[in-house]
Amino acid sequence: KILRVAIMGLGGYGTRVAEAMKDCKRAKLVGVISGTPSKITDWQKKYNIPEKNCYNYENFDAIKNNPDIDAVYVITPNGLHKEQVIRVAKAGKHAICEKPMALNAKEGQEMVDACKANNVKLLVGYRMHFEPHTLEIIRMRNAGEFGKVLFFQGLSGFTIGDPTQWRLNKALAGGGSMMDIGIYSINGSRYMIGEDPVWVTAQETKNNPQKFKEGVDETIQFQLGFPGGAVASCLSTYSMNNLDRFFLNGTKGFAELLPATGYGPIKGRTNKGELEAPVVTHQTVQMDAMAGIILNNEKPVVPVDGEEAVKDLKIIDAIYEACKTSNKIELKL
Ligand code: NAD
Repeated sequence: KILRVAIMGLGGYGTRVAEAMKDCKRAKLVGVISGTPSKITDWQKKYNIPEKNCYNYENFDAIKNNPDIDAVYVITPNGLHKEQVIRVAKAGKHAICEKPMALNAKEGQEMVDACKANNVKLLVGYRMHFEPHTLEIIRMRNAGEFGKVLFFQGLSGFTIGDPTQWRLNKALAGGGSMMDIGIYSINGSRYMIGEDPVWVTAQETKNNPQKFKEGVDETIQFQLGFPGGAVASCLSTYSMNNLDRFFLNGTKGFAELLPATGYGPIKGRTNKGELEAPVVTHQTVQMDAMAGIILNNEKPVVPVDGEEAVKDLKIIDAIYEACKTSNKIELKL
């Protein structure tokens, strides 16, 4: 069986996913949800989408009565995810939601609960969880090849342009760089170390308060402590380009991903040499794997379900609190 997917939000990333899905073996783009009629007609032509599988933001609850769509992939600004995913769940369709799943952990939990109540699955678009270099490092770590892991460094950033875009609007983005790119270092620290953190400290730097308004972070450094004794030191920023590096060190050796989370090609090396993992289109392997998770209950090496994503939101909530209070915040994930 093939997972039949409708994409909600036909913007930059929605387009990238649609293009990547052309090569999927187990997932197919069959529908769209958009507020822009001209985009709908463009996509209909490009991806051969029938009229009956096209919706807008007012009428998409009617997808409930459409037996030809299994799942909706929500790829809209962060502040819209909660309401949209809950409406998808109520329509009885599986939801795939882009990261960050929501603006905070409370919202994320509401989405998890709604999907459970409606007996649909909720997955979050963590494409690195299916990336071969990343998975090879996780395999090596699990095999003990780095010894006892004690340190992770995550550097995540790019220079953001247009000051009027939704990513710099607190209501739609939920914050700044942390919500968008810093989340990769948070999530990465968890899959690279293989544990969930138990405390966090964080410090914010803002050089441009005109561009980065109240509640929109420009640069945050944060530190995470893990139960096995490892520490993570991370940076999230909207003011530096080409900042995309993960570094893991244990008692026996190291692993580096550089770049670590960009669209690729990802490059990796360890103390044993260069990693020779296949170069893939992330969204193609992600959507094929997600089809397996949704249709056949397959278990990914690193989970991508809503509960996992709420953990990242709890960490983000704590990072913002730590920036405000300078306190070390205990985490209960
Ligand atoms: P974008 O601005 O390119 O596209 C957003 C789309 O949402 C547009 O088509 C826009 O018309 C639509 N939209 C609907 N309602 C809107 C509203 N009220 N205000 C503004 N736009 C509205 O953004 P994007 O880069 O495609 O990001 C969308 C989501 O995907 C975000 O949550 C982002 O974090 C995520 N994303 C994930 C990755 C990844 O690698 N996993 C990469 C980029 C973006």
